[in-house]
Amino acid sequence: MKIKYLEDLNTLVSLSKRRGFVFQSSEIYGGLGSCWDYGPLGSLMKLNVKRAWWNAMTRRQDIVGLDASILMHPMVWKASGHVDGFSDPLVDCKECKTRFRADNTESYLKDKKCPNCGSKNLSEPRQFNLMFKTHMGPVEDSGSVVYLRPETAQGHFVNFLNCQQSSRYKVPFGIAAIGKSFRNEITPGNFIFRTREFEQMEMQFFVKPGTDAQFFEMWKEIRWGFYKKYGIKTDNLEFHPHGEGELAHYAKAAVDVHYRFPMGFSELEGIHNRGDFDLTQHMKFSGKSLEYFDEATKEKFIPYVIETAVGCDRLFLAFLCDAYREEITTSEKGEDVRVVLGLHPEIAPIKAAVLPLSKKEELAGPAEKLRAQLAEDFDVQYDEAGSIGKRYRRQDEIGTPFCCTVDFDSLNDGAVTVRHRETMQQERVNMTQLNAYVAAKLKNFSAN
Ligand code: ATP
Repeated sequence: MKIKYLEDLNTLVSLSKRRGFVFQSSEIYGGLGSCWDYGPLGSLMKLNVKRAWWNAMTRRQDIVGLDASILMHPMVWKASGHVDGFSDPLVDCKECKTRFRADNTESYLKDKKCPNCGSKNLSEPRQFNLMFKTHMGPVEDSGSVVYLRPETAQGHFVNFLNCQQSSRYKVPFGIAAIGKSFRNEITPGNFIFRTREFEQMEMQFFVKPGTDAQFFEMWKEIRWGFYKKYGIKTDNLEFHPHGEGELAHYAKAAVDVHYRFPMGFSELEGIHNRGDFDLTQHMKFSGKSLEYFDEATKEKFIPYVIETAVGCDRLFLAFLCDAYREEITTSEKGEDVRVVLGLHPEIAPIKAAVLPLSKKEELAGPAEKLRAQLAEDFDVQYDEAGSIGKRYRRQDEIGTPFCCTVDFDSLNDGAVTVRHRETMQQERVNMTQLNAYVAAKLKNFSAN
């Protein structure tokens, strides 16, 4: 058997549409640039991605959750540096009207040429702010301007003392949040890799100055462990430390986790040592103290922040890319291709499928009962259309770890055939024990 892994993002784009993972937004109107909708399976899987991250963070003893609003006081973005600094340099081609980024367009950097038509008749670079602006209230004047947040992190900083005091946690501790962010990206693309509306999963860990380097290392290790736990192939991951010139204005140190997407290694997550930049700025702009008082040592200080920031959509994409494989077997009958999403079962949208061997009422009745029984604990699918082999393949392609076939023997022995996605092996399991069986297998997946 030959195994082929994902080579082209388009393979995933079409699988996603065909099987209901991701659709283009407003498709019947021709779509909306870089906006995507998560379909029946995609919305389930996205919840699983979020749950995995959320649990990894907030089930720790030293992290609390937060769900801050998207619209914040405009001063937040002044203080954070986004109003003045969150921008990309844009150049217009006066011949073909193409607009492109000056800082990452090869033809421009090399010999000041338009990447589209090659003309040198170009505008000077202009700074283009990436924040979406809107107005709050009925009057659209400059006093009513608010921004859609370009990152969730600022909600954590302005709520630092609210979270600390209400939970009575001591530094070091962290705040975790999942939420939508918006950036008017100039170069969106590569499916859901870079979009203008996306979800972020960010955690800010507040530590005593001087201990930051050690916590930075700790979080690098923890995040690497997360990807390993969820089955991302470590060959497809690497740390990419930021050099001096690459560091963001707020960062003391930074490393990105890169994933080998089909278009090459690209950022999946950022891990940053933000120092006390954000809390200090908010103290300055709000006039309120965000200092922490350490009861034990009677010291007052502004904590340093280690941040881990990953895009939910980008992680979703990495999971799909990593899981996709084609198993190709050749025999005298020709070539057979089994498409499998080898997703970790916690991430897979459907945990088990119930497949009655025939549509006859005799089997449909008990099969439906079994579906309802499994659905009490898991997301399940019921499929009675087509040959059993075809139905197995349909489940393989969406990553379902277990298929449970109800056959005529089931009526006598009360058992079903459970077929495993990874090994394709089958075993008989009593229906009354099936929920416990699936739960145990999901928990200890590598033992399958
Ligand atoms: P990019 O790789 O798009 O240049 P960035 O370096 O600007 O991202 P950060 O500001 O560090 O990203 O944001 C943290 C994480 O949020 C990124 O690692 C990425 O996973 C996700 N993210 C950022 N921008 C987008 C976007 N436009 N679409 C999808 N995910 C995004």
